[in-house]
Amino acid sequence: MAISRAMKLFSRSFASLSSTPLRVCVVGSGPAGFYTAEKMLKRHQGAEVDIVDRLPTPYGLVRSGVAPDHPETKIVTNQFSRVAQNERCSFFGNVSLGSSVSLSELREMYHVVVLAYGAESDRVLGIAGEDLAGIHSAREFVWWYNGHPDCKYLTPDLKGTDTAVILGQGNVALDVARILLRPTAELATTDIASHALAALEESSIRKVYLVGRRGPVQAACTTKELREVLGIKDLHINIKEVDLVKTPADEEELKNSRIQKRVYELLSKAAVSGPSHRSSDQRELHFVFFRKPDGFLDSDDRGGHVVGVRFEKTILKESVGSGKQVAVGTGQFEDLECRLVLKSIGYRSFPVDGLPFDAHKGIVPNVGGRVLINSSGDHTQLEGVYVCGWLKRGPTGIIATNLYCAEETITSIFEDLEKGVLASALSLPKPGKEGLLQLLDRRNVKVIPFSSWEKIDTEERRLGSLKNKPRDKLTTWEELLKVAIKV
Ligand SMILES: Cc1cc2nc3c(=O)[nH]c(=O)nc-3n(C[C@H](O)[C@H](O)[C@H](O)COP(=O)(O)OP(=O)(O)OC[C@H]3O[C@@H](n4cnc5c(N)ncnc54)[C@H](O)[C@@H]3O)c2cc1C
Repeated sequence: MAISRAMKLFSRSFASLSSTPLRVCVVGSGPAGFYTAEKMLKRHQGAEVDIVDRLPTPYGLVRSGVAPDHPETKIVTNQFSRVAQNERCSFFGNVSLGSSVSLSELREMYHVVVLAYGAESDRVLGIAGEDLAGIHSAREFVWWYNGHPDCKYLTPDLKGTDTAVILGQGNVALDVARILLRPTAELATTDIASHALAALEESSIRKVYLVGRRGPVQAACTTKELREVLGIKDLHINIKEVDLVKTPADEEELKNSRIQKRVYELLSKAAVSGPSHRSSDQRELHFVFFRKPDGFLDSDDRGGHVVGVRFEKTILKESVGSGKQVAVGTGQFEDLECRLVLKSIGYRSFPVDGLPFDAHKGIVPNVGGRVLINSSGDHTQLEGVYVCGWLKRGPTGIIATNLYCAEETITSIFEDLEKGVLASALSLPKPGKEGLLQLLDRRNVKVIPFSSWEKIDTEERRLGSLKNKPRDKLTTWEELLKVAIKV
């Protein structure tokens, strides 16, 4: 009893003592990582926060996910850059948790480790033909057009076909459709990767199908993104009137959601307001509802390239308990020919060694950001380890959602400091960045500090100014590291 009271006192005084550094490592420099760092620095004047990222560039999906024609969304990087320039904050790029450094090593070197490394893999459908050439995840395609160095060489074939099928109808699916259909002259003044712009300029894609399992009432997008794609110049929109017929259950859903109601209204309006004359080069966007993918079709000669998707028609049934309508197959099938498929069916996180992982939910088991040793309902914490962002909640929500998510995780950390939960970690001296940099040096990992990222930033802006773009991204590991390391 006396010991635990002493621990509490020790932790309390530790949390408030500005001269004692609280060494914190944040893994991942996306919104979740930066919001966590910002809040930690604000709340604890003695905290020293090191942000590591596997890329030489910071900002996660703000750089490699947000669409190039949404520059206003990327302004948040100014705020993140101010965090990185705080004298108690360091950014170390080109440092990968799992290969450059392990979780157990970080736990030895820091009092607190916050994992915010996002969701960098894809959900799979698990249907026949999913590995055929010509099928990509939306994540890969988005990384490709945003110049992520891991997808520079994706080379989606935009010339061998006039039809692309996008599976999914969420905002990412709409981004992808817009990039495929928007006039390239408009994309040319954005920060789209040059290799993607060049490929889109030569693209023969004229028809894009956005396919959803459920109906227009359940379309998982928001109005801003929908309006934008519907507003593309000279685009013919195709929506079958029969799909717009509502059931009483649909009416009930619409009553309960203003966003769904607006989305439905926009789709209904678009269905009846197509352009009167269509040219031979007309671009078309088809919203296809009530279809679930059943398999991908290979060519007759089994050439290994997708030539179509087999869909099963669906109807909606109320799922018992949830009150939601789910799509169930009808046993009727139809094929849609195409040679390019982009699966926009969701992202997935993956675990690293020593980190508990809920394989079913695809997240790290946690309560309010406190990592739990397993997902079976046992609330024992992995001491000193926290989680934030998509790795904590799953791949949903906008940038600002991560602000609230970081607030929750930081609150948990400070509660634990107050309660003495971190007492054993705090009682040991931790080397923090000094130890980390020594270890990385021994492993020949070339660390990219924020000042070196700024060299990349300057170079990208300079290259962009030559082409009337806000920036021309460096898109290979070699180019990025060369510019960052240049003296
Ligand atoms: C295509 C797309 C478009 C979007 N558009 C918008 C939009 O317009 N507006 C909006 O508000 N929201 C948008 N979002 C949502 C928003 O991007 C996310 O909510 C947010 O980025 C999630 O933040 P995060 O920090 O959890 O993950 P991320 O942003 O993915 O950051 C994770 C970071 O961890 C790093 N990392 C990964 N693995 C490791 C490792 N092993 N070691 C070290 N570092 C690692 C990554 O390099 C990355 O920098 C979009 C999302 C997507 C996918």
